[in-house]
Amino acid sequence: MRTDEPILRIEDLAVYFKTIDGDAKVLDGVDISIHKGEVVALVGETGCGKSVTGKTILGSLPIPPAKIVRGRCFFKGKDLLSLDKDERREIISNNISYVPQDPMTSLNPVFTIGEQMLALIRWHGKKRAGLRAFLGRYNKRDDSWGKAIELLNKVKIPSPEMILNRYPVELSGGMRQRVLIAMSLIGNPSLLIADEPTTALDVTIQKGIIELIKEKVEEENLSVLYITHNLGVARKLSDRIYVMYAGNIVETAKTSELLDSPLHPYTQGLIKSIPKLTGEEFRGIDGRIPDYIYPPSGCRFHPRCDRAIEKCSMEKPKLLRIKDSHSVACHIYSYKEVTSVIDERSDITG
Ligand code: SF4
Repeated sequence: MRTDEPILRIEDLAVYFKTIDGDAKVLDGVDISIHKGEVVALVGETGCGKSVTGKTILGSLPIPPAKIVRGRCFFKGKDLLSLDKDERREIISNNISYVPQDPMTSLNPVFTIGEQMLALIRWHGKKRAGLRAFLGRYNKRDDSWGKAIELLNKVKIPSPEMILNRYPVELSGGMRQRVLIAMSLIGNPSLLIADEPTTALDVTIQKGIIELIKEKVEEENLSVLYITHNLGVARKLSDRIYVMYAGNIVETAKTSELLDSPLHPYTQGLIKSIPKLTGEEFRGIDGRIPDYIYPPSGCRFHPRCDRAIEKCSMEKPKLLRIKDSHSVACHIYSYKEVTSVIDERSDITG
């Protein structure tokens, strides 16, 4: 259930990566907020900066070559970016969890599921694990064994005792992803960051994982930042969507409003790019994500935008609130124009 105070608020986040050719300006002033119990999808093409945003929140950016140039990242009112390393690590490990993209490579192939889960349960929140914990084998008398069974039951894995004795290679992709979701729930997190967790799975398994995440969100009252390039998944799962293009948030709205009445030319292009089963021809967006070392001036989308005006290459558009929950960063809209475009929307979404 949503409350008014965001659990996470990112303000003007800019992240660069040092390269031999110069700084790659990957995030260029990102603003995102997530409320308690809310599922927010961050969508955009591969390479637009979605995962960098997630890693910045998790404190897992490789610094260097990455550097946080400016911005703030408030979690439950504390700016994670201004805290020292230990304080930040403690807040993140006790409150924020992560579900990675690829279940095939995210589990260690040389340890059983039980060894990996029990190590995580024992070490969770600890700064250092003692030699005994490191060397200790798991056994059924251990409390952590019961906790591992409980977690596997939560993600509906049949015969959890048997699964704990299996190696990752013995499980299907869907089962491995369920194990990773179970592991993400170990510390009773309040925020889950899921980075394309269904991309490597086939569609029927994807459906099961999406339903499982939805169920866990309700049961555990989780807030979720769901990173995806798949608008269909975002529609199924999220309450609100942020559209990211080349390190900028270009549009945000409630999910149904954004997908039914997209305003930004990039969002409209993304929706038109979805292949349809009706045989109808679909159109992609010409061009590709720009060079981050020498990004286009003004609106970073202008070299690909068929509606660009002179101002677009000179001035970066601000994210303007159009309605209570719908904001867009595009020079062609003023408040009045947007109101009329929303009314005339039927031809845009196709
Ligand atoms: Fe296109 Fe200009 Fe809007 Fe950017 S600001 S999306 S270039 S119309």
